[in-house]
Amino acid sequence: MTAFCSGAVPGVASKTTAAGDGGATYDIAFAGAGLAALSLAVRLIGLPDPPRIILIDPRTEFPHDRTWCHWQLHQTPFDPAITHRWPQWTVRSSTVATTRRGVHTPYVRIPSGQFYKVATEKLSVAPQVTFLRGVSVDKIENHPDHTTLHLSGGQAISSAWTFDNRPPESSHAPWRQIFRGLELHSPEADLDSGTVTLMDFQSANSDGIRFFYVLPLDQKTALVEDTWVAPRGNDPRFSDEEILTYAHTHLASVPWQIRHREDGNLPMGFRPSAVNRKNRIIPWGTAGGAVRASSGYAFSRIQRASETMTHYWSQHRRPDPAVAHESQLLAWMDRVFLRVMERHPERVPEFFLRMFDRVPPEALVRFLESEPRPADILRVMRALPAAPFLASALP
Ligand SMILES: Cc1cc2nc3c(=O)[nH]c(=O)nc-3n(C[C@H](O)[C@H](O)[C@H](O)COP(=O)(O)OP(=O)(O)OC[C@H]3O[C@@H](n4cnc5c(N)ncnc54)[C@H](O)[C@@H]3O)c2cc1C
Repeated sequence: MTAFCSGAVPGVASKTTAAGDGGATYDIAFAGAGLAALSLAVRLIGLPDPPRIILIDPRTEFPHDRTWCHWQLHQTPFDPAITHRWPQWTVRSSTVATTRRGVHTPYVRIPSGQFYKVATEKLSVAPQVTFLRGVSVDKIENHPDHTTLHLSGGQAISSAWTFDNRPPESSHAPWRQIFRGLELHSPEADLDSGTVTLMDFQSANSDGIRFFYVLPLDQKTALVEDTWVAPRGNDPRFSDEEILTYAHTHLASVPWQIRHREDGNLPMGFRPSAVNRKNRIIPWGTAGGAVRASSGYAFSRIQRASETMTHYWSQHRRPDPAVAHESQLLAWMDRVFLRVMERHPERVPEFFLRMFDRVPPEALVRFLESEPRPADILRVMRALPAAPFLASALP
């Protein structure tokens, strides 16, 4: 059974030395037990000869603190945590709206609390896993044959490899997606619970791009998010009143109660340092560049990287840091998109409306989920106006 503990690690001294892969106490350490660490750990314990794993996180509780949505192209071990599937989505500006359907690729919701429950239940029956809560990783050292993690309690542990899942400084990214979401409930509401509003654009200028995002959870409840895509240095201020005003105006003019809130500040265009296959510390999740630069989505990319990394480990019993890195073509397209956004922020609503309107839903979903076929990329390129993108494609 997994050792779930808070504070000291059983059997680990205050100073540890390791003589090599074989001498390290663990095969894999996770600094941080968030989405990316748990996604990989759950897959690794399913291998016939699973590695010895330690997960270390300052949190002692793993409650519902965020809502993960994505278009479901594949099954994952976390499907039991899916609570909602929407076949239809809308994007709108003040003048135009487009609604598309994708019954084979629904937009799905996983509340983080459900995800953590599924993940920790799976890990709790794995004897080779230690889960250390209430402890931070202060420093990680890379050595030729192992890594050393220095913990907040003064202990040190050795692991052959470390996946560093600690959040990077979001100020290092050129753009950030910053948002506040409120789950609103009213017994008097009568919402259309079959359609998600992905983007309802409010404004777009050099301060950033602002839109509302609405997930109708049932006819009486919705998660309503006020979202800014803002350049570095711009910190939009949020107020519950503005979100409530939006709900009154656009959802239903009824008294809304706030049931839950979540805040986010995601780096867009954050690039991890170049892959060094000799380095035993592997940036993982957001720190490894998992957040898509052009959209802020990360869930599916983390699932795919975890799948590939597990396969690699099963073949070679070591990780390949390159698997977390995305295709050069998509990374380049996203860089061009961010450049166009910087030069023409006022046109961003038009770009998204064109994409959702002109590209068939399945093709666009594959593109947004970072799994495009060559024809999908051509369709997206054809949907966008050529002049600003060609001008920004040149360095
Ligand atoms: C509110 C919110 C909503 C989001 N919604 C979506 C969505 O709908 N779809 C989507 O695709 N993406 C979404 N994202 C983006 C992305 O999927 C998440 O940020 C996701 O949690 C990233 O996973 P991660 O493992 O990189 O980071 P996290 O899940 O944040 O994990 C990082 C872990 O590191 C731990 N940690 C911090 N400091 C230390 C330390 N010193 N030592 C050890 N551990 C440490 C933290 O406690 C945490 O558990 C959302 C993000 C937020 C914040």
